[in-house]
Amino acid sequence: MSKNILATYRRPTGWLGRTLWFYEEIASTNDVALAAAREGAAAGLVVVADAQTAGRGRLNRHWEAPRGTSLLVSLLFRPPAPFAVQAARTTMACGLGLRAAVLEVAGVSVDLKWPNDLIYQPSGADGAWKKLGGMLSEVALSEQGEPRALVVGWGINVNIPEAMLAKLSPQAASLLTLGGRLVDRTALLDCALKEIEGRYEAVVAGEDPLPSWRAAVAWLGERVEVVGPGKRVSGIALDVAADGALLVRLADGEIRRVTAGDVSLRRQFNA
Ligand code: ADP
Repeated sequence: MSKNILATYRRPTGWLGRTLWFYEEIASTNDVALAAAREGAAAGLVVVADAQTAGRGRLNRHWEAPRGTSLLVSLLFRPPAPFAVQAARTTMACGLGLRAAVLEVAGVSVDLKWPNDLIYQPSGADGAWKKLGGMLSEVALSEQGEPRALVVGWGINVNIPEAMLAKLSPQAASLLTLGGRLVDRTALLDCALKEIEGRYEAVVAGEDPLPSWRAAVAWLGERVEVVGPGKRVSGIALDVAADGALLVRLADGEIRRVTAGDVSLRRQFNA
């Protein structure tokens, strides 16, 4: 299904996606959007690729997406001040919008794995969670180091067949394998932009998406492990904070604030 996604793109939004760049193949949609942001591109730019040669997750991990099977998109926002607060809220709004679009278009119910993944958790089957997608939020800075724009990118495994998934990651799943049918990537893009635009406008109008985001974040109240370079913290994932940090209660009762920077979250199971 390697085609120009835009052939049937309907643009159901006002400003988000009014300018949309499609690439058959580029290094990374986030890199293109970040460069455009630095050069003054207007908010609402959407960058879409059918394949990436250097797709990134957090921590410069590789994001794999077999050509023609995934939805690889980056959005350019210029959140109003205060930037840090609005950027965190924008990222939450994007996660919630994507989750809503996946449910609406593919009929698959996903949760958000802190800080940035879309996962599927079958009810009752401990441990069998699957990763369907990841988001990566990055800030474009001015030469003076001031934040100028926020780029939120994502990769979603849409029509990746079972046999290809095992090569990506042991946890990888796709909307095809979970929902049992091919999903129209353009319809998913249309819906995601619509869902995100409304939520972002609410953020700009002063609404805090934290309560909705908290309700969508997986594993709160459960035993987790946070793994980073040279560190490992175990405890109960208590809550998420307004800035998106994860609050973990350690065995000695201390509540540790974990920021997304350089760590990954795992679920721990009782033996
Ligand atoms: P984390 O899951 O720790 O938040 P990232 O969000 O940085 O990690 O995602 C990168 C990781 O996701 C890679 O190290 C790889 O294990 C895995 N991965 C890469 N491509 C895919 C994919 N298409 N589907 C599922 N997992 C993937």
